[in-house]
Amino acid sequence: MLGLENYTVLKTLGSGSFGKVELAEHSITKAKVAIKLISKSSTKDPSTEIKVKREIKILKKFNHPNIIRLYEVSENTKYTILVMEYVSEGEFYSLIERRGRFSEEEARNYFRQIVSAVDYCHSHRITHRDIKPENLLVDKGNILKLCDFGLSNFLRDGEFLKTSCGSPNYASPEVISGEKYCGPQVDVWSMGVVLYAILAGSLPFDESNITNLFNKIKSGRFSIPYNFSDEVSDLLKRMLTPNPILRITCSQIINHPWFTKYSTLPPFIYVSSRNIDHHIIEKCLEYHEFASYSHRQATEFVKNSVQHPIVATYNILLDVERKSKAIEDSRCVVYKSVKKVKKENKIYKDYGKEHNNWVFGFRCNLKARTLMEKLFEALKDAGLEWKIIDNFFIRTRNASDTEQNDRTINAIIKFDVKIYKYEECYVLDFVRKSGELFTVMEVIGKIYMALSCE
Ligand code: ADP
Repeated sequence: MLGLENYTVLKTLGSGSFGKVELAEHSITKAKVAIKLISKSSTKDPSTEIKVKREIKILKKFNHPNIIRLYEVSENTKYTILVMEYVSEGEFYSLIERRGRFSEEEARNYFRQIVSAVDYCHSHRITHRDIKPENLLVDKGNILKLCDFGLSNFLRDGEFLKTSCGSPNYASPEVISGEKYCGPQVDVWSMGVVLYAILAGSLPFDESNITNLFNKIKSGRFSIPYNFSDEVSDLLKRMLTPNPILRITCSQIINHPWFTKYSTLPPFIYVSSRNIDHHIIEKCLEYHEFASYSHRQATEFVKNSVQHPIVATYNILLDVERKSKAIEDSRCVVYKSVKKVKKENKIYKDYGKEHNNWVFGFRCNLKARTLMEKLFEALKDAGLEWKIIDNFFIRTRNASDTEQNDRTINAIIKFDVKIYKYEECYVLDFVRKSGELFTVMEVIGKIYMALSCE
């Protein structure tokens, strides 16, 4: 089909409001992709066309591990064609249906990903406005991907969004009342409903009669099951506060004790660099299809998002690499704090390296006692001293007057180590506070070796 020359369609994945979604193989990289065929006859109506255009505009500029990636857009006489990341495990909604209730630990893992994606949207001044399990797809490794941005709206300073939208059970009181409302808080309410639903296995506001349902939502009264912890109950009450001004914000959620609880992975997200990855450009040029292009030409295409097979190949390869890195997480994770994103540019200038603000971490299968003994031994070996802030938080720096020997790091360094229990193992997180990046990395590398050799 015109517009799909580089893809082989394998099967239909589903059909949506505007057309079919097909599973296909990208013939250059052999990667699996999802192709959304939006029938032009369905978008004749201007409001539908606006929705499709909005989705494309938003997805083109987004790059977040919990938001569906758009690789390429093309069109022929019949369809607008969206080539997207293929998400293999179906809708979150079906997973909830199959599984029923989730434990707080599991729910936290999913919830953090949703908040991370939504916070990212808000930081780009976009509010999703239709957060619900049907709009979250599940990928391998329990990774969630937010999709369906058709109802999203760009936020403008001081301007309240006027369009009412979303699914009634997940819609906030200000939406169903048809009031003018400020965008971001609408998403907070819907995320509260999702969190409740995955913990309770039922909706907080549910009535078969729509008037009763709306009255219930507006009252903000819902019952909290007896087995919910105090912390999650507190978070839910704050998220499901009818008055949007008093409702908890995304950044407050990220700092809420239930969200930051140490018993599982930390509230960090993996954020890939927005800069051009020249290693991926090189990989693209290795395909015979692109043999006649120079590195500079390919870089220009990618930089300017030119509609060209090199750009789609680049986007696909970048994603494949990112996914394989995410799978490597089971041994070694590289992610950084949501809040540190802003600082990146400054440090980038200081050191001329883009990865300077990364937080490093890895998993460890040792028993708690052995882990701590080995950790302290490794720190001592590197000539560091430490302060135990609490059982799971250690602050280290160079020892003030230790004998310097060849195992000791001379440069001044400071970093924090946080330890989280995750399933059957521990995750050690290292946050560099000061000192040259490579020196800190060297020490962390030694600690990693010490903890991984029995
Ligand atoms: P709707 O218009 O109803 O929101 P979509 O057109 O986005 O639905 O998708 C229809 C179905 O196709 C979804 O329910 C989902 O099962 C499947 N699907 C959509 N996008 C993807 C994707 N990127 N990867 C895998 N499956 C997908």
